[in-house]
This record gives sequence, structure tokens and C-alpha cells, in this order.
Amino acid sequence: MSEAVKKIVTPISIEYTITPGAAPTKFLRGIKEGRLLGQRCPKCSKVYLPPRGSCTVCAVPTVEEVEVSDQGTVTTFCVVNIPFYGQVQEIPYVCAAVVLDGADLPCFGVVQEIAVEEVRMGLRVQAVWVAPEERGYTLENIKYFKPSGQADAPFESYREHL
Ligand SMILES: [Zn+2]
Repeated sequence: MSEAVKKIVTPISIEYTITPGAAPTKFLRGIKEGRLLGQRCPKCSKVYLPPRGSCTVCAVPTVEEVEVSDQGTVTTFCVVNIPFYGQVQEIPYVCAAVVLDGADLPCFGVVQEIAVEEVRMGLRVQAVWVAPEERGYTLENIKYFKPSGQADAPFESYREHL
């Protein structure tokens, strides 16, 4: 009687090149300059960051450009305690959803310069950027988020962004 195959290892890789559309191109050019450029939906007024060129809820194009702050509010987060292949951060660390001031969708980033057990919903944070001369066309220009020192945001201010 043979045993069932439960796991196989298949080392594969794919190299690909992405050609961004108009909205992501503006976003990537902005982030290289240390600016966060989103777009507002003309119908529901939600600000998308990164912009996609359209609102997926309203199914309309977005063209109004909006510069978003690099400060924001932690809405949800998780503490990573499990090591994994390719891990860069030392465990434990916090990965959080951050709604930047002026945006309506969260972006994700690591929160540092605070004890893991002190991270909480509503924590106000500030992006820590790589040096201007090291910036590329990538979200990796933001190294991590750190506490901004501001008072916690009230739940009502971010409840719609959970
Ligand atoms: Zn919309």
C-alpha cells in the first residue's frame, strides 16, 4: 500500500516586467520624490492610494490628483512571530494597515520604534523614508512607520476604513 503524497517541492521562479498605466506611473514618479499621489473618485469621493485610474466601486475613471500625507492611523495590525523564508525583519514585529491622512484605503507597512505590545488600533504614525538619493520607483522608499507622538485617533475617525 502506497502513502499519499502530502507535499512536493517545486523550485520555480518567474521574471516579469510591469508596465504601469497612467495613474500608477504618476504615483511611482511621486514616491521617488517623497510624495504620495492618490486619485479621488468623482462619484464617491474616495481617495485611492496607490491610484488605479478608476474607482472599482463606482466603475468610473479617476483623474483628480490628491497629495496624501505620510502620516496616518493604524487601523488593524498583526504581530508576526513566525520565521519564514526570505524574512527581512527580526521577529516579533508588527505589520499594520495604515490609513494615511487624506486617503480612504489603507496601505500596509511595518511599525517600528515602539514595543510590539504597545502597538494599538488608532495609533498615529509617521512614515520613515529612505534617503532621497536612495529612492526609486517603489513603495520600499518608505522603510517603516514610527509613532508620530500625536494622541491616538478616536475610533470614529477610522471605523469606515476597517
Ligand atoms: Zn467611487
